[in-house]
Amino acid sequence: MKLRSLRYYRDALDPGRFFGARMGRAHVPVFVYHHVTPRSFERHLQFLEDNRYRAVSCDRANWSDPDPREVVLTFDDGRRSVWSVAAPLLKKYGFRATAFVSPGMMSEGDPTPTIEEGDLEALEASYFGNHELFNWTEARLMAEAGTVDLQLHGFAHARVFTTPRAVDFYHPQWKDRDEGIAGWIVRRGGQDVVLRTLDLGQPIYEWGSRWGDQPRYLEDEASSAACVSHVRERGGADFFERPKWREELESVARERDGGAVRAGRLESREEKVRHLEDLLGRAKSLLQAQTGVRVDHFALPWSKGNEMISEVAEAVGVSHVYWEASIPDYASARSSGVQHHFRLKDQFLLRLPGKDRQGVIGLLAVVAGSYRG
Ligand SMILES: [Zn+2]
Repeated sequence: MKLRSLRYYRDALDPGRFFGARMGRAHVPVFVYHHVTPRSFERHLQFLEDNRYRAVSCDRANWSDPDPREVVLTFDDGRRSVWSVAAPLLKKYGFRATAFVSPGMMSEGDPTPTIEEGDLEALEASYFGNHELFNWTEARLMAEAGTVDLQLHGFAHARVFTTPRAVDFYHPQWKDRDEGIAGWIVRRGGQDVVLRTLDLGQPIYEWGSRWGDQPRYLEDEASSAACVSHVRERGGADFFERPKWREELESVARERDGGAVRAGRLESREEKVRHLEDLLGRAKSLLQAQTGVRVDHFALPWSKGNEMISEVAEAVGVSHVYWEASIPDYASARSSGVQHHFRLKDQFLLRLPGKDRQGVIGLLAVVAGSYRG
């Protein structure tokens, strides 16, 4: 177990830190969900109602003078189950929550069925749309209904390359758990482009979150282009039927470099700040234009941050930044007008003081689940 996780559990299991005992009610408890199913989410809402708590959204929370009956519920990624499951249940209980979305990953579309009017079996078969995102129409309907407030989770939940070390080539079987949720930012014609999936044949270098603390590696475009067109000209997906496709692409990438240094480079700090400001600023404008709501809250994708985060947030008019696990020192030092909030995984909600509170042992058994970004 990583040190970070140990600290996380220690913090999470220390009720004083969150629920008033030691910190004099200084904190509003904030919980983070990703995908929800009707039974488990309703259990949480019922628990809140039974114990006279109120679930509020980030834009309505009283951060400076917390109300001990108030908890903030947040959803990361904008997964479809926020629309199909959570919003109807929030309405039923008269609660409100915040969904952190990546506007660059969202599409237009018609409203899809929810647990209110949908065929439950079909919804269940798709696991309530776990790996899809809700669309703009659904976002607007939730905002209008007042059940879900929409705020930022970056522009595209983007990954960027971080070192010149190639680890793979994008191929039809390339899958990871964030497919469909997280995009990529790569170089094309001297510009940055945001892609939902990479082009077949694209060399994949070691990567990380755009918001992480590593600088971005600006890849050698000529090498990427050579590999991508090599694949396209040889049948696209069919090319990967060749038993030695990997060796072939490796040699294309090498030839392109002429065996010499023709490689990319690491971005400077200044370039990084400018890029982050641009991404967050565009995300904010797009979300505001689409929904008409005021946007000034930002949850970091994968809860990865960097030391320029307050500076970037302030520059684009974002005043609240949300983490999961501990907040790093550079962010908790309140030198700017930006407030940083710690969030707990959703399972910890049942640790709030009250009737039917979950025991620590039972909770640890449940929490053994995975971190979902
Ligand atoms: Zn996320």
